[in-house]
Amino acid sequence: MERHITSKPGETAKIAAALAKRMKGGEVLALIGNLGAGKTTFAQAFARTLGVRHRIQSPTFIFMHEHRLDRKSDPAYFVHADAYRGGVAELRSIGLAEYFGRPDAVVLVEWADRVKSMLPKKTITVRLKHLGGDRREVTIAGAPAAANRRPRG
Ligand code: ADP
Ligand code: MG
Repeated sequence: MERHITSKPGETAKIAAALAKRMKGGEVLALIGNLGAGKTTFAQAFARTLGVRHRIQSPTFIFMHEHRLDRKSDPAYFVHADAYRGGVAELRSIGLAEYFGRPDAVVLVEWADRVKSMLPKKTITVRLKHLGGDRREVTIAGAPAAANRRPRG
């Protein structure tokens, strides 16, 4: 488990970008935190680093967006879902579960605590907590190890 304290939106964005760089495809992320905790800030930086060229919108009303990534990029899709208004039944009916385990997609679910029962066991959990003012606690559990920057030996 990794724990960070951020004191401005750009710092939360940096953590999101660093996590996005560790994605290989097939990952599912659960983004959890109250209103104003920074979920959208996190999701936008995450998406941008994965290769989404436009600014992503919160999929609150349609529950899910599939973004095709740059052809050269690996993985090929970023799927952004939001369980704020849609529960398990709604997210299932629009096909969210069909992306789970697909090696060419990275899936991020906002308000994921509302649909925990449908998420895969190896879901990466990102919790954002408002600590007051501009301070946020970001905890990440279940993420793949950061790439080794230095050659060994
Ligand atoms: P959510 O999607 O969880 O409701 P948003 O990302 O939309 O949250 O909003 C978070 C708000 O808090 C934004 O206005 C952002 O600029 C502000 N903010 C202030 N400090 C931080 C921080 N450390 N990390 C993320 N957002 C922050
Ligand atoms: Mg939001």
